[in-house]
Amino acid sequence: MSLFQETVIDCPSCARSLSFETVHSLNADRRPDLRADILDSRFQRTNCPYCGTGFRLDCDFTVLDVKRGQWIVAAPVGAIADWEAREAAARAIFARAYGAEAPAIAREIGQRLKPRIVFGWPALREKLVVGDLGLDDVALEAVKATVLRNAASIPGRVVAELRLVAADKNDLLLAWQRSYDGAAGAVVSAPRALHDKIAAAAANDGWTAFRAGFEGALFVDLKRELVRPRKAA
Ligand SMILES: [Zn+2]
Repeated sequence: MSLFQETVIDCPSCARSLSFETVHSLNADRRPDLRADILDSRFQRTNCPYCGTGFRLDCDFTVLDVKRGQWIVAAPVGAIADWEAREAAARAIFARAYGAEAPAIAREIGQRLKPRIVFGWPALREKLVVGDLGLDDVALEAVKATVLRNAASIPGRVVAELRLVAADKNDLLLAWQRSYDGAAGAVVSAPRALHDKIAAAAANDGWTAFRAGFEGALFVDLKRELVRPRKAA
């Protein structure tokens, strides 16, 4: 099932109230069209009926994709400082829905699902691309770490996320994207063979400690190391 609910929001430009159909949970197996909308970066975009300003509502829903083995909590980008608490909450939801606390039939589905949490549209879209390409997302983060280490310059904070956007036979294409709406900046390519080598997880390949840092993690993102989690008040 894909569950929508009517939400009243304020236009970020003219501040008038408008109603918006927001998604609460999205089943990609039953609604591949909605998954495609996320990949096309048009999901939850609208124009204000009063002033015409186009904007995009931040994500705040779960995606279930049994076919590709994905269960993703798509959290708002602004909640990233709370990633530690959000990750714990997502882990608890997954345990009840598909994990240790779920009925046998759901647990069976859960064994084929990788639970994840992401913050914002570029990060969500990236996980869907990972699902399509059958990549290992920990290995992808290792590739990004390599790209960042070798980068002569890193774009400023406005264009702040390096995200996988596509791939061809030999290369993974990464783009610097703006966190809040996914607007794309410079593209960097990295050899797909590097991903494959790291994903093979050979002993003493130099990535053992990196992989261990994501052991059991739902928040599989370099930002795990970069964003200091806010402590609960
Ligand atoms: Zn408006």
